[in-house]
Amino acid sequence: MLTIGLTGGIGSGKSTVAQILGEFGAPILDADKVAHTTYAPGASAYDAVIAAFGAQVVAGNRTIDRKQLGAIVFGNPERLNQLTSIVWPATRESIRRNVAELRASGAKLPIVVEAAILIEANWQPLFDEIWLVRASREQVVTRIESQRGLKPAETEARIRAQLSDEERSKHATLVIQNNGSLDELRELLKTVWAEALKRNG
Ligand code: ATP
Repeated sequence: MLTIGLTGGIGSGKSTVAQILGEFGAPILDADKVAHTTYAPGASAYDAVIAAFGAQVVAGNRTIDRKQLGAIVFGNPERLNQLTSIVWPATRESIRRNVAELRASGAKLPIVVEAAILIEANWQPLFDEIWLVRASREQVVTRIESQRGLKPAETEARIRAQLSDEERSKHATLVIQNNGSLDELRELLKTVWAEALKRNG
């Protein structure tokens, strides 16, 4: 039974692909959401985040204030590194456990884990296959501007700050090109999913 890691750059269409695969029946895990659970009060990374970043990141209800945390690490590679070195290993372990629990509860279809930082975090060993969603720079800039209101220069800067698609491609077992319409993406995914089901046994 396959466990698939789904990755790609900003605005490439990962969440859209995950949503469509979910409609096809795939159990979906979102690594971002899993990451947030790791520093909920009492969870494995909670104490370490507070030890590293201080009481200023603790909100009134004891939760970690993500905005405050974001403000500290934004534009500060050292602090960001400190945060990811706490949260990424905890997230990896939590994904591993979630996948095992899904299997134990009877999930037979391929499980899809959407993880933007899959390769940066070296999570490849968690997965049987790594699917990379790619869209051209022009498509990404246009989609992000029309749907999130982000200026092209800001999107370009974010793309430059990330791993390149060439680098990601080296780790991918399958590439999903997302330069067409949503209908075209859905059609492509029908084929891709049917083939994955065959490999899934
Ligand atoms: P991020 O990592 O930045 O959250 P993402 O890779 O998850 O992005 P999505 O949120 O799925 O990307 O897609 C980015 C935007 O582009 C969304 O608003 C989505 O609706 C839109 N989009 C994705 N694919 C297509 C497509 N084929 N045609 C039109 N719009 C699309």
